[in-house]
Amino acid sequence: MTGNADGFNNSEDAFSTQSNGSTLGVVSPSHLPPEFYNAYLSTAAKERKPSPIRSLLPLESTPGLISLLAGKPNATTFPFTSLSFTARSPVDDGPETAISLTETELEEALQYGATDGLKQLRNWIVGLQQFSHGRKLDGGWKVSIGSGSLDLIYKAVAATVNKGDSVLVESPVYAGVLPIFQSRNCELVAVETDSCGIQSSSLRSILENWPVGKPRPKILYTVPYGCNPTGMTATLERRKEVLQLAREYNILILEDDPYYYLYYGDGPRYPSYFALELEEPEVGRVLRFDSLSKILSAGLRIGFASGPEPLIQAMDRHTGSSNLQTSTFTQVVAYKLLDAWGYDHFKIHTEKVSAFYRGKRDIFERIMNKHLSGLAQWSSPEAGMFFWFKLILNEDKIAEDGDSEAIIRTKAFDRGVLALPGTVFFPDGRKTAYVRAAFSLSTEPEVEEALKRLRQVILEARAE
Ligand code: PMP
Repeated sequence: MTGNADGFNNSEDAFSTQSNGSTLGVVSPSHLPPEFYNAYLSTAAKERKPSPIRSLLPLESTPGLISLLAGKPNATTFPFTSLSFTARSPVDDGPETAISLTETELEEALQYGATDGLKQLRNWIVGLQQFSHGRKLDGGWKVSIGSGSLDLIYKAVAATVNKGDSVLVESPVYAGVLPIFQSRNCELVAVETDSCGIQSSSLRSILENWPVGKPRPKILYTVPYGCNPTGMTATLERRKEVLQLAREYNILILEDDPYYYLYYGDGPRYPSYFALELEEPEVGRVLRFDSLSKILSAGLRIGFASGPEPLIQAMDRHTGSSNLQTSTFTQVVAYKLLDAWGYDHFKIHTEKVSAFYRGKRDIFERIMNKHLSGLAQWSSPEAGMFFWFKLILNEDKIAEDGDSEAIIRTKAFDRGVLALPGTVFFPDGRKTAYVRAAFSLSTEPEVEEALKRLRQVILEARAE
């Protein structure tokens, strides 16, 4: 067991603040100066003015001030008179937690709130980032809450990428971000991955051979834990190599980590890029995205970004001129639960959630072995909720990549199985024999039936 400076008793798990034998977060790191980010902000971000009303909102808390500023509706006209809910205890056989909002909290929940999120929830998250990643709030970084992490990723891309810029994305990549880059006509530069995460040799080769005179990519997008779609987790060695390349070539890492708390691999838990960069000579090349979607509720629509202040502020200005803020209502609900739990119960809860998905993975894999042995190839995912498997459509040409598109989109669907053809996860839309199947919801009999049907479809495709 190890502890950090503030006495959190962390072990080698999601909440560890250690990497490589050194205790992180004790010495205040040296941050890249705010001017460093001028070269990273997109033209749109530089030109985007702060919302004239929202930028004055913090002044409303000035003592003695009578605010005639914002068009806030009068909450006494709203029909909600109370809000209470109960939450399961994360502790085995523990009592349910009954939570009620006070009158003031209810009023806050029903009202407009801060652009970067409910202050109490932001503070809780700051504490979590220290608890989980050893990052103290030291003036160099900031937290902002978004309507899900994808909202923040969208704004981070808008804040950094100009039309036509080249961006580095791991390949295969989370299909949800591709339209964000595509809508900016980005050149998507695919960085190859394997079971250890991003192949640093691929990244190095891309950067070393970058055409002279062509602007180099400023950002690298990656999902280091339980990559969606492959389920793979980047090893410590790879993370360090990638971080070193980021320093060498001045690249910002967009660390999209919604499966961080859903890690159930047998191996050691690696530090996040956000934690690991504390070992760098200068800190500030990682913009991290977390999500409450997989651990509290996807319907809350709460994600949070943690990273260099100038970048987060640019994202906040975007929020100020788009959705104004994340729902105060759901933020208050999330905060009340998290505050009642504290970090220790949050930890127990997330460990239970990851154990649940491990169980689901094991069931799915057992049935894969039963029905798809010899018909598909896969590696066991170590986090998250997806199996990424390759259809073996031709016994004699296993090494060759085929095309799962028609088989999955039409033949499997006609038989009543819906999955995703792997092509949607490749930045270049290449043909592939890979398929992504989610195992988060299906019951054992449903998995049995789905994979039996898939077996039939593959056998028929082979016979054609
Ligand atoms: N990134 C990845 C890799 C995801 O898998 C998802 C959800 N499927 C998201 C981001 C979006 O999550 P959120 O609900 O927080 O917007």
